[in-house]
Amino acid sequence: MRALLLYPENPDTFWSFRYALPFISKKASLPPLGLLTIAALLPESWEKRLVDLNVEELSESDLQWSDYCFVSAMVVQRDSVRALIHRCKQAGKKVVAGGPLFLGEHQDFPEVDHFVLNEGEITLPLFLADLKAGNPKPLYETKEFADVTKTPVPLWHLAKLDKYSDMCLQYSRGCPFACDFCNITSMLGHRPRTKTAAQVIVELDALYDAGWTKGAFFVDDNFIGNKRQLKNEVLPALIEWRKDHPEVAFKTEVSINLVDDQELMDMMSEAGFNSVFVGIETPDADSLNECQKAQNLERDLLASVKTLQRNGFEVDGGFIVGFDSDDETIFQRQIDFIQRSGIVTAMVGLLQAINGTELYKRLKSEGRLLMNPSGDNVDATINFIPKMDPKVLHKGYERILATIYAPKAYYQRVHTFLSEYRQRVTSKFPLSWAYIKAFFKAVFLIGMGKERKEFWKLVWWTLTHRPRLFAQAITYAIYGFHFRRICENVLGSSFAA
Ligand code: SF4
Repeated sequence: MRALLLYPENPDTFWSFRYALPFISKKASLPPLGLLTIAALLPESWEKRLVDLNVEELSESDLQWSDYCFVSAMVVQRDSVRALIHRCKQAGKKVVAGGPLFLGEHQDFPEVDHFVLNEGEITLPLFLADLKAGNPKPLYETKEFADVTKTPVPLWHLAKLDKYSDMCLQYSRGCPFACDFCNITSMLGHRPRTKTAAQVIVELDALYDAGWTKGAFFVDDNFIGNKRQLKNEVLPALIEWRKDHPEVAFKTEVSINLVDDQELMDMMSEAGFNSVFVGIETPDADSLNECQKAQNLERDLLASVKTLQRNGFEVDGGFIVGFDSDDETIFQRQIDFIQRSGIVTAMVGLLQAINGTELYKRLKSEGRLLMNPSGDNVDATINFIPKMDPKVLHKGYERILATIYAPKAYYQRVHTFLSEYRQRVTSKFPLSWAYIKAFFKAVFLIGMGKERKEFWKLVWWTLTHRPRLFAQAITYAIYGFHFRRICENVLGSSFAA
């Protein structure tokens, strides 16, 4: 049997880094970890190929070679996966589909032959057994959660690793919290399920053996969901592993309560973590109450971010407007918070109701749902009727984007962050030709562009005040270049960058 694993194109989104990747001659930021894990769950005797359409074209010969096409997609890939499935069907191939998009919308994809939904560790073996018996069903689902200690190592060798800027792995699934807009808990449960320390080390070694020697992103929903196991098993193992791999640095996603545990922050730093994404959502306590983000309440969120930064973590933040509790003051309050926090990568979205969430159920019962969510966090769409006048909401939202990503405010944030950040993890990767080229591209494209004044001010200030953070400063300048292109796409000519 020949399995062709297909990953559809990502549109130009905030997290695609589409306009930043050419600086370092890369095609995509992360490989499709889900498909690489599915590949490892398929029988060893099957032949397998991966085509990630974000880094290469899908050739007719690949399609003709295959017996089955396995397709995975996120909500944001809705349009591109539709075209991909159509192409597979035109070539006369059977299509098996899974992933978050199909979990909520599989009925909208009649061309797919078999849906293998929820966690593949459970549903894929059921499909394979029926396939072997000659009667595979159209739909495989489960309400159970997989035992991730049995999850195999992703088949890294199928991916063209040199086309990606980062690598990803997963240590845990699920989150103990209950934010009502989040579909993590409906998909993966409240009890964090964790891999063993030995599994994590084997996965890292496998990545290393496949030729990857840079940083990696633990794409966990909440890396600190099970603190006890982290502190007792996984972090000690990572600390040991990193002694032999000092060039590697890690990033991940955490809830804000990381800041309450100094020992955990110290251990994460020692293990090489220097960057965390945190869902801040809003500085408004009523809105936090409304969405049941209890872990963000009863604390000074701004001080928490600063504590993380002073403990060696660059903080990326998620922010949302459009809660029922929001009034017209929220836009300026979000801008003020983001600017004062020094969160450079601030993803600000309009609230979206995703299938399966408590928010979705509530809005459905109130008759306020309008359409499926776009899955793009920063595209100025809202899929329900908000309490605030929609025109006021959109205008206020656009004002946030236009303000925080205008060159002056953006570079101010970089300056705030670099001034206050206390670097604890230094990844000792060699200065490569790729990084030197990235710098010269930045000089040419940014240093001679509209934001040249801010760029050269930052270069001069960093060299004279924080020279060890120079690479970080240039990276932020490149990110800013990307974020501004995204804002231009969303806001059109009203974005005066
Ligand atoms: S903390 Fe994050 S992952 Fe957990 S429920 Fe809230 S938004 Fe979802």
